[in-house]
Formats: sequence, C-alpha cells, structure tokens
Amino acid sequence: MESCIFCKIARGEISSEKIYENENFFSIKDIHPKVKGHSLVISKKHLDTFLELPDTFSSGFLDALKNTARKLLKEEKAAGFNIVNNNGKVAGQLVNHLHFHILPRKEKDAFGLGV
Ligand code: 5GP
Ligand code: ZN
Repeated sequence: MESCIFCKIARGEISSEKIYENENFFSIKDIHPKVKGHSLVISKKHLDTFLELPDTFSSGFLDALKNTARKLLKEEKAAGFNIVNNNGKVAGQLVNHLHFHILPRKEKDAFGLGV
C-alpha cells in the first residue's frame, strides 16, 4: 500500500524507534499517546483488520504483544496494561492497517475503557 502511513513506517521510509520487532510485527510509540508509554504493535504486511490476520502469524502476533507489553510495564513501572484493537471506522479505526494499542496503566491515571 503506497500511501499507508504504517506501511511507510514498516518499509523504513519514515524513521521510527522500534520497541520490539520479530518476523511479522514491530512496535513503536504512538505519536499521540493517551497515557505515558502508549504504543502500537503493527503488522509488517498491510492487513486491513484483525480478520485478515493469517493463522500462520499467530505465534509471532502473541510474541510481539507479550514482549512489547513486558517492556512497557518495566519501562513505565506500570501496574497493568490494556490491549485495544479497533476494527472499522465505526469502532474508531483511523489507520486502516492492522495494529494493536498497548496502554500501560497506573493507579488513578486519566484513562478508562469503560467496558
Ligand atoms: P486507530 O484509531 O486507527 O486504532 O489508531 C491509530 C493510532 O495511530 C492513533 O492512536 C494515532 O495517534 C497513531 N498514529 C497515526 N499516525 C501515526 C504515525 O505516523 N506514527 C505513530 N507512531 N503513530 C501514529
Ligand atoms: Zn499499510
């Protein structure tokens, strides 16, 4: 995808500092963090939504989520974290390239999912 912002980051056309990387995923800090340390786990391949994620990516997907979350917990001295994945405009997906938000959480921080 020529104009997709996350494809450009994946191809290295836009520089980024990787928190974690494996064969099919990488993670970076969100440009507009909702909480300190808010990060994104992004597929290297352009996939529109979670439903396009091939089963063969499963272990790499879990590996990227877990290792990114572990690093953020340590870095931010957080007590917990949320994983959020928006699919479709109605669900708040702004970038149509598969990604997962990881939000490190602390007592009395200014974030809540309300679910
Ligand atoms: P969505 O609403 O699609 O689930 O979330 C997209 C996220 O990508 C937003 O939190 C937004 O701040 C983040 N984002 C958009 N463009 C960039 C970018 O160029 N670099 C980084 N690091 N994050 C971005
Ligand atoms: Zn893309």
